Amino acid sequence: MAKTPDAAMALCMKVWKAAVARAREEIADMQKVADAEKAGHKIEPWDYRFYAEKVRKAKYDLDQNEVKPYLQLDKMREAMMWAAGQLYGLSFVQVHDVPVCQPDVTVYEVMRDGKHAGLWYFDPYARDGKQSGAWMNEYRTQENLQQPVAPIVSNNANFVKASGAVLISWDDARTMFHEFGHALHGLNSSVHYPSLAGTSVKRDFVEFPSQLNEHWLTTPEVLNKFALHYQTGAPIPAALLAKVEKAKHFNQGFSTVEYLAAAIYDLKIHTAPADKPIDATEFEQRTMKEIGCPPEIVMRHRPTQFGHIFSGDGYSAGYYNYLWADTLTADAAEAFAKAGFYNKQLAKRLYDSIMSVGNSIPPDEAFRRFRGRNVDTNALMRDRGFPVG
Ligand SMILES: [Zn+2]
Repeated sequence: MAKTPDAAMALCMKVWKAAVARAREEIADMQKVADAEKAGHKIEPWDYRFYAEKVRKAKYDLDQNEVKPYLQLDKMREAMMWAAGQLYGLSFVQVHDVPVCQPDVTVYEVMRDGKHAGLWYFDPYARDGKQSGAWMNEYRTQENLQQPVAPIVSNNANFVKASGAVLISWDDARTMFHEFGHALHGLNSSVHYPSLAGTSVKRDFVEFPSQLNEHWLTTPEVLNKFALHYQTGAPIPAALLAKVEKAKHFNQGFSTVEYLAAAIYDLKIHTAPADKPIDATEFEQRTMKEIGCPPEIVMRHRPTQFGHIFSGDGYSAGYYNYLWADTLTADAAEAFAKAGFYNKQLAKRLYDSIMSVGNSIPPDEAFRRFRGRNVDTNALMRDRGFPVG
């Protein structure tokens, strides 16, 4: 979607400056802690996580164990489905006459306006031999080529099965909404050609619907209805939510700098003149110097272990794509924050211009149809708590 290396680099450098400034504040906070403890040294890269954790405890004290009793796996699944009903008019009815690979897997018929719209498989539990992590899969792609074919998609996770309520962390709840966003991208697809359906979009666009869907977890409608204490049924307290919200900005300088240093290096080495050999070490040192990478932070993937820059064309120079998708997400989320997250008109526009079109419309055009203009990169700066320059 970025179209040119220059466009990708321009976004990276815009965020870079603010991220470095924030990282310097974080380093100063850590240095204060080290000095108060009479550590007698300057913060070095190998000290970063140790002191960051001390700062986190002091400034952003969020205990995940306080949050977990309010986040039941089943309730979060219901919450995702409920929000999808509000936004896209989808309803989910569990069915038992569809084969599953494992008895833990549940299947839901997805209906839109009373009509069959697809199947959603949910495979939440860890077991021997299962891939780790959480992901969305597509078993059958939507198409309308010769006849209408409805999509069949799945969400998969690795929660530990319990005899009672399965309690999950805030990050896990967010991941569930994220992966369900990919599933909704597949389920809402309404295109002619299967090769253009659902999630078959550009890499710097595919994380946009999923990241955007994370925002519905934090809506009061979802939290008050579904984030209920597993024993008392009380909704999650506002004071606890405020802590969760505050913790969002913790270490944003570090994580953005660490990521962007790698993304910028990636773009630079892919656009370097190919007429003479590149000394990888010298190139890395020169690049970090040129962009002014704080010496306290090491790039997330140094060249010697930056697997995907050498592992085929799936990524190539595309590590920037997370930042690009974050930008689209932040800007779209601001539109919902303004209109209301359950605003029917805006939800319909999201469906019409983004969720249903797959790759049948160029992504920049799709975004313009949704937002009425090009993406505003300042939205990302606001989302990360960086000053807009
Ligand atoms: Zn994703």
